[in-house]
Amino acid sequence: MSLDSKFEVIVVGGGAIGCTIAYYLRSEGFKVALVDKGPIGFEASWASAGIVGPGTFLGGNSWFKPATKMSKKLYDDLNQALHEETGQLVEYGGQGTLTLAFNAEEVDGIQQYVKKQKGDDVPTEILMGVEARQREPSLPENLLAAMLRPDGRFLDARNYTLTIAKAAEIKGVRMIQGWPVTEFLWEKSRIAGVKSGFSSLIADWVINAAGAWGGELDPKLVLPIFPDHGQIMALKGPVNGLRHTLCRWNQSGYITPRVDGRALVGATHEQIGFQKMITPMGLRVLSDITKRVLPELSDRKILDIWSGLRPATKDGLPVIGPDYRTTGGYLWATGHSSSGMMQAPATAKVIVDLVSNKKPRIPIEEVSVNRFIKV
Ligand SMILES: Cc1cc2nc3c(=O)[nH]c(=O)nc-3n(C[C@H](O)[C@H](O)[C@H](O)COP(=O)(O)OP(=O)(O)OC[C@H]3O[C@@H](n4cnc5c(N)ncnc54)[C@H](O)[C@@H]3O)c2cc1C
Repeated sequence: MSLDSKFEVIVVGGGAIGCTIAYYLRSEGFKVALVDKGPIGFEASWASAGIVGPGTFLGGNSWFKPATKMSKKLYDDLNQALHEETGQLVEYGGQGTLTLAFNAEEVDGIQQYVKKQKGDDVPTEILMGVEARQREPSLPENLLAAMLRPDGRFLDARNYTLTIAKAAEIKGVRMIQGWPVTEFLWEKSRIAGVKSGFSSLIADWVINAAGAWGGELDPKLVLPIFPDHGQIMALKGPVNGLRHTLCRWNQSGYITPRVDGRALVGATHEQIGFQKMITPMGLRVLSDITKRVLPELSDRKILDIWSGLRPATKDGLPVIGPDYRTTGGYLWATGHSSSGMMQAPATAKVIVDLVSNKKPRIPIEEVSVNRFIKV
């Protein structure tokens, strides 16, 4: 790589987070390069189930709910804009998320949950079994009730990442693939670019969106971000197709549709370092989820099975913003754990704010690096 030009921003990592950041930065006129160690869009964002929508599971946290709400709105717009800009379809849709209750205890669980959510700005409602089946005809007869979150959507995370990468490139982002960042370029205590072996690239800002690898890009900026391995499979979906993402009250796992009729069943969580594999135990976990959520799919053909590495943190929240071990030129944008697709557009908008020296549109105190390092 020759040092032919200086960039205003270098984004390290071409997953959903990095590509969305590069796209929005370029849309604001910044001169941007995105570098990836491999091909763009082939790590966690390739493996993802792509369930998006407003999420409340991290409760009163000042980042998570606003970020997932904002991202849902941004995805509604991006779906249209990316199609116009690239001619490609992201495959984004669905009519919400249904949390299923098959016994009295589960019905009580969803009722209590909705009661607690009263006054919350994420719409949630209880449906009787028969109403839920009207919305989603493939649900079984013995379903007693379901909790509906109408704003939930599914997104083909592979298509999304590749499409927004293409749109970013069309806008003028320089995409550099097969270029592993081995350390940052330091100018005293400021970050001034990135290095890959003996090559370097200079920029005013470096954004770390390197996913599960992000915590170890530079020996002076180490963070406890670790790979959380997830196995996931695609089944031939029900004859009538699925309109909602389905899960069962108080149990892990989900089934989420694809526009082409497949039903994705996910996912496992394993801490096995930086390796990817399909295991008999993983298959068993996924089969159990299928049986619990939509038993009629248990004898459907497995069309595909794969795995990926979520960029995980101990508290499940991302790391976004500056690092006080540097005096500038550097921002974190990784560690989104199990919900990086849900947070990608909002994360990117906040990075644009920070690069533009504006107040971030969502507070970032609770996703700051300070919770992991002493200031
Ligand atoms: C099975 C599974 C199911 C999931 N389901 C959902 C879901 O339903 N909803 C949801 O919101 N989230 C889900 N997630 C999580 C979500 O996919 C991730 O949080 C998200 O994809 C993270 O995006 P990223 O861009 O940070 O990471 P990645 O997509 O992993 O991208 C990081 C990029 O950085 C590059 N990189 C790494 N090191 C270097 C280096 N040294 N130099 C240059 N480039 C480098 C990598 O090659 C990679 O392309 C799921 C994840 C998995 C595995």
